[in-house]
Amino acid sequence: MQNIIFLEPVFKTMIWGGNKLQTEFGYSIPGDNTGECWAISAHKNGDCEIRNGEYHGKTLSWLWDNHRELFGYASGEVFPLLVKIIDAKTDLSIQVHPDDTYAKEQENGALGKTECWYILDCDEDGEIVIGHNAKDKEQLADMIHQNRWKELIRVCPIKKGDFFQIDPGTVHAIKKGTMILETQQNSDITYRLYDYDRLDHGKPRELHIDKSIDVIRCPHIDSKTNGVSSQNENCDIDELVSCDYYTVKHVQLHGEQEFSMTEKFLSISVIGGCGEIDGVPLKKGDHFILPNGYGTYCLKGEMELILSHI
Ligand code: ZN
Repeated sequence: MQNIIFLEPVFKTMIWGGNKLQTEFGYSIPGDNTGECWAISAHKNGDCEIRNGEYHGKTLSWLWDNHRELFGYASGEVFPLLVKIIDAKTDLSIQVHPDDTYAKEQENGALGKTECWYILDCDEDGEIVIGHNAKDKEQLADMIHQNRWKELIRVCPIKKGDFFQIDPGTVHAIKKGTMILETQQNSDITYRLYDYDRLDHGKPRELHIDKSIDVIRCPHIDSKTNGVSSQNENCDIDELVSCDYYTVKHVQLHGEQEFSMTEKFLSISVIGGCGEIDGVPLKKGDHFILPNGYGTYCLKGEMELILSHI
């Protein structure tokens, strides 16, 4: 049997970051403006090290390059998923991502970006930016060029446990007081549409207006989420989304439950509580991969988990 692969997160300091990755998740963070925890990542800007076993100290990208059998010989130049926890103390700039076709042509062969957000925590009157109110490209361009941001940007109320799929071309941003778990394609291509006219070191941050107008889908349509859910005495499983790039599930465990793995590999994040997997202790903030061929596994405890696979 293969070993569980535990990962060491990489932290990113951001002007909009806070300290909840320490206070809520118990991580040792680099400072009081830590915005992102790259929890399951083989991206060159934050490549997680393996925390245990025979590959201890190697990176996830190294494992992907040298031991593809652990991932069921899945194809692709890079490990396909990127799981982050984000703590926004202030509003993030409003962004949009290209799809694979646009990114390949315009960004030197890069991948596009599809991502999804599970709301871990938010303020009581929490809000999120998802979509826009322009009916077509022409109106979109007009509203942008005339700075009619309030009219253009669509803001929705949120609560803990909400989930959003963000397909390429979707205008999106998290707002202050929000913590999310993000599952995404392994890519970093982002176009900044609007930054609330803020200044960073005395000047506005660069915007990418033309590329944003190119890729924003008009009109905005909310992406379909929520698949099959199953419940039994010890475990509630909700499929949050299944798209071309990933399937993401939410699991609430209360007791003991056996699972058999059918996926090529499985990425798991503990987002609440504690317990164990096959006798190995788990706590909130742990992230690991069950490699190909791991087989049957048993989870035990009071735990909330996010599972993702390709
Ligand atoms: Zn994004």
